[in-house]
Amino acid sequence: MYCVKCGREATELYEHLCPECYVKSRNFVEFPQDVVVHSCRSCGRFEMLGEWKNSGFNEAAESAIMNNTYIEKGAKLLSYELDIEQKSPIHYQANLRFYLQVAGLEVEREASIRVRHREITCPRCQKVNGNYYEAIIQVRPAVGGKFREEELEDISREIRRMVDAGFSRNPNIFITKEEDMHGGRDFYIGDSSYASHMARRLVKNYGAIYTESSSLWGMKNGRELYRMTYLVRLPPYRIGDFLEKDGKIYLLVSIGSDRIQCIDLESWGDFSFDGKERVSVLGGEEMIKKAVIVSESSNELQLMDPLDYRTLDVRKPAGFSFSEEVPVIRYQERLYLVPSLERSP
Ligand SMILES: [Zn+2]
Ligand SMILES: [Zn+2]
Repeated sequence: MYCVKCGREATELYEHLCPECYVKSRNFVEFPQDVVVHSCRSCGRFEMLGEWKNSGFNEAAESAIMNNTYIEKGAKLLSYELDIEQKSPIHYQANLRFYLQVAGLEVEREASIRVRHREITCPRCQKVNGNYYEAIIQVRPAVGGKFREEELEDISREIRRMVDAGFSRNPNIFITKEEDMHGGRDFYIGDSSYASHMARRLVKNYGAIYTESSSLWGMKNGRELYRMTYLVRLPPYRIGDFLEKDGKIYLLVSIGSDRIQCIDLESWGDFSFDGKERVSVLGGEEMIKKAVIVSESSNELQLMDPLDYRTLDVRKPAGFSFSEEVPVIRYQERLYLVPSLERSP
């Protein structure tokens, strides 16, 4: 077999050409002359293949160039080098070198591509700026109570983190507005089903009380549109609090969706209550004091009351291990030994 161009003999011909003549016959790759990279002037994200991502300019430019470059069937891209140079605030030059395999030979192709950077407003920011929302999550303290130190900030951070995580899957998951209301905070959310999911997560994590309501706010394609309100009301107690119920004192160790787990401070036995039962919250870890052990018998300890240095007897609970000082709380002239929350169950 002979090449129709150079007349040399070849074991394999490509369109009647030997491999050397074939690779010179054309480019095999079509580069764009210029590409436009869009970024959002509000959130700073870049558009990549129709999605808005927290990438850098170079990454977005590379994606735009590669997606507008066409390689002929039969040619294979082995590797490439890309170098992007800024020429003005919005103009860049990209120098691209392709290493291709064509007809069993390695060939190089080069291009210089103009890249323009354009700032626009992404669809999410358009909606945020337009105050779009489908649901409100209302975070509130217990009735008559208030948030503990940093608590509202912790919950707010958790909501923002969940929104960020959800946004990568659904661009409607964003916070339009945050507003402090009635001792709590309202979060306006772009997607109602995700807002419901977040509200339920908070309910589970904090043992909160949950109610939802809706109001009609418009029509879309003949369908009624509702705005949802998810109220998340924190319970009066937190893990580590001391509770009083029917004259007994408990340490709260965990909060479930409808029950709370406690330790009875007299026997150190485990108890659980229905979350709706009335309990009084005595306080948290600020109640804990250190008491010195004066003496010890098989089932009792004599402790020195840290308040007035009187000696008081307490029943020695099962699982108690001896040391010189013990954590106690004082309630109504009595001392209660406090088990460590980290103890094995
Ligand atoms: Zn030839
Ligand atoms: Zn944006």
